[in-house]
Amino acid sequence: MKKVEDYVRSIPDFPEPGIIFRDITTVLQDPDGLKLAIDGLKERLDGVDFDVVVGAESRGFIFGAPLAYEFGKGFVPVRKKGKLPCETVSAKYDLEYGSAEIEMHKDSIKPGQKVVVVDDLIATGGTIEAAIKLIESLGGEVVKVLFLMELAGLNGREKLKGYDVESVITYP
Ligand code: AMP
Repeated sequence: MKKVEDYVRSIPDFPEPGIIFRDITTVLQDPDGLKLAIDGLKERLDGVDFDVVVGAESRGFIFGAPLAYEFGKGFVPVRKKGKLPCETVSAKYDLEYGSAEIEMHKDSIKPGQKVVVVDDLIATGGTIEAAIKLIESLGGEVVKVLFLMELAGLNGREKLKGYDVESVITYP
């Protein structure tokens, strides 16, 4: 019986020397890989009381939307700057490689809503730390942060101290 990690393709030195890129296209393109990935995330939400799933562009959309659908909740995208058409809140942050700015629609989270945050991978934790800031600035309460993969060596969890963080796959 294969595990979801068996479907992840690891590419050394992409997009820069020294980075091992964890490619999920090989997970997604295989029906068993896709099912294992979504089921692995889904089981970590059993018994969690929440109202909405927030996913970070772009791979957080792939995993976040099916989870929202499974649990009968809504899905809210965190997008790269300049993509959302209505009034937004935004945050700048550093990446494992480079920097970026993300946005959410101001009316996407209602004060008091319980939020599950989903992304494909936590590296430095900068993306999700910024996403959490946006969610909280809108009055949302982050009850769970879920990743398919975690690069433990980069210590991204340090940035998410105090939150309930879980990953399906952990790389050293
Ligand atoms: P971070 O903000 O550093 O936690 O990572 C931001 C995003 O960059 C992750 O959600 C991934 O989509 C992507 N990323 C960073 N490092 C890697 C990696 N080694 N392999 C694949 N994706 C990565």
